[in-house]
Amino acid sequence: MTPTDTHCPYCALQCGMRLRPRPTGPGGTPPSAPPVDVEERPGFPVNQGALCGKGRTAPALLARALRLTAPLVRDSADGTLREASWDEALDRMADGFRRAAEHHGREAVGVFGGGGLTNEKAYALGKFARVVLRTPNIDYNGRFCMSSAATAHRAAFGVDRGLPFPMEDIATTGCVVLVGANPAETMPPALRYFTRMREAGGRLIVVDPRRTRTAEQADLHLRPVPGTDLALALGMLHLVIADGHLDKDFIAARTTGFEGARATAMAHWPERVEQITGVPVSQLREAVRMFAGAGTGMVLTARGSEQHSKGTDTVRAWINLCLATGKAGRPGSGYGCLTGQGNGQGGREHGQKADQLPGYRSLTDPADRAHVAAVWGVDPDSLPGPGPSAYELLDRAGTPDGIRALLVMGSNPVVSAPRAAHVTERLRALDFLAVSDVVLSETAELADVVLPAAQWAEETGTTTNLEGRVILRQAAVPPPPGVRTDLTLLKELAARLGTTHGFPDDPREVFDELRRASAGGAADYAGIDYARIRAENGVFWPCPDPAHPGTPRLFLDRFATPDGRARFAEAGHRPQAEEPDPAYPLHLTTGRVTAQYQSGAQTRRIAELNAAAPGPFVELHPHLAERLGVGEGDVLAVTSRRGRALAPARITAAIRADTVFMPFHWDGPGRANTLTNPALDPQSRMPEFKVCAVRVEKAAEA
Ligand code: SF4
Repeated sequence: MTPTDTHCPYCALQCGMRLRPRPTGPGGTPPSAPPVDVEERPGFPVNQGALCGKGRTAPALLARALRLTAPLVRDSADGTLREASWDEALDRMADGFRRAAEHHGREAVGVFGGGGLTNEKAYALGKFARVVLRTPNIDYNGRFCMSSAATAHRAAFGVDRGLPFPMEDIATTGCVVLVGANPAETMPPALRYFTRMREAGGRLIVVDPRRTRTAEQADLHLRPVPGTDLALALGMLHLVIADGHLDKDFIAARTTGFEGARATAMAHWPERVEQITGVPVSQLREAVRMFAGAGTGMVLTARGSEQHSKGTDTVRAWINLCLATGKAGRPGSGYGCLTGQGNGQGGREHGQKADQLPGYRSLTDPADRAHVAAVWGVDPDSLPGPGPSAYELLDRAGTPDGIRALLVMGSNPVVSAPRAAHVTERLRALDFLAVSDVVLSETAELADVVLPAAQWAEETGTTTNLEGRVILRQAAVPPPPGVRTDLTLLKELAARLGTTHGFPDDPREVFDELRRASAGGAADYAGIDYARIRAENGVFWPCPDPAHPGTPRLFLDRFATPDGRARFAEAGHRPQAEEPDPAYPLHLTTGRVTAQYQSGAQTRRIAELNAAAPGPFVELHPHLAERLGVGEGDVLAVTSRRGRALAPARITAAIRADTVFMPFHWDGPGRANTLTNPALDPQSRMPEFKVCAVRVEKAAEA
């Protein structure tokens, strides 16, 4: 059996793996058995053969018993979902969208994409929304992931690539400040780079309210009050300036706007920052000594620092710290975002964002619109403008003047959206909901039509990992009968809605068009093709022509701004959208566990992962537990202004006494996102997932 080299379906590390088809007996593969086994793929540099438990068990996702194998439509007689033919399902979809547009206009239809879709699918979905539906209503769940870091990156450096350097550079740097990131649990194979860095004498500073497995390995662990990272970064910049650590030559030669940043930072003196963040001045000074004193250094953020109503300003404050110390645009130094979702990077480059066209082109720039319109063969004036962001789009679903028909592709907002009970009600209120997914997710359960999608090991397509490395997922086995790729779905649906050209379902054809659409843009893929990706273990964008080697390291000569200089920002501290008060006296923060992925729609179905992480819990400090009279395992009711969640107590000194933590992978009574706050960052439209005010008590029904 010939093995196929491909990549993990889950996180943005996109670990390389090899899939070997299993021999089939006379009766074929049993429904509960995966058709492939996973093997090490040592040649892929990012993970060098290592996989976490999610990657090792990923073949289980392919078992027929676990996933959808036929379209489902809601029966008009009894209201249940029943199996249907593809023709019936597609006809129902076309009818649902046509009716909504005819009765309420094009702004009454929309699509909601996902950061796990391949580049080809993300591109085709954006084109479908703008060319076939001609609606501005398209956004995706990546808005919930790292959009504030993306906005900050673009504002400071002129272009948004999560890491402007390869992962291997982490191992060579002198000091890493890791903010709101927990790679030891979220992407374990990545930890090797931090370990190698420390073995070579580098220092690791972790900023996290929880003592995570990553924090346990740090040389210094800062534990700020949730939602105060902005003040922490400003306090560090204050000390950099006050203690003479500025790299004045770098600031003069390669940046603009330092004076404004300096004035803002000087208003955040260490004692004030201690008061806001709870981080002692002595630790703040130690962090500055470590970071500024290292010859090279990096600040890496993840969701803990980004998912805030001031997420963009927070990331820009971390970027300020890099710029002020000359730790950007140089080998071994820089700011980076550890993107979370499998194609969180590529998914935001190719036009499924509310505010961008493929190649990071602007929806409001006439030249950008004309370029993409020419590739698509349409009149630029026919392209809609920017639309609402993810939460705003969902919030408008089912409202009289809002969206009446929606296609959700590869996303599960019933579990993953903030204020999830409200979002669920909005989805229920739609006239028509279609969901394309691999499994019957909680969102798919609400749908009028469910389409069974082919998945990672059954179809070929590219993703772009957190480094900006464009890689190729290759089909190892065909999808089961009854399952089709999302590209075929879009082709068939476009045809039923009157567009018979421009939606090929051959991924290579789509990728070639994507290359043309991105050519000359910030995320330029023009020189990348499938053969090159195979031969070179991925190609870093920008890569404007086939002779270009690709760009593993950005900004070494100049930043991507018009004048080539990085820009300082000058936002000061402001409180989180919801501060604790007598009615809701505690902070809630949410996050992940190693064995589950995102909304859990896939991983909760895998026995080994479920055994390792069977359900939600509430992590609280022993002092708080004592005050509340709570014992280990007691069922707690956690209440915010948006709802209530129930989960057992897990008592640990690893968390601050003023904060509780819940993982967000589950639906049902323990759904953490029932509680979270949809307050939006004004720049990136990122909701404030990472902190809200709650009260906690023993559940009466326990
Ligand atoms: Fe997959 Fe991420 Fe685990 Fe690698 S770290 S095996 S990409 S889930």
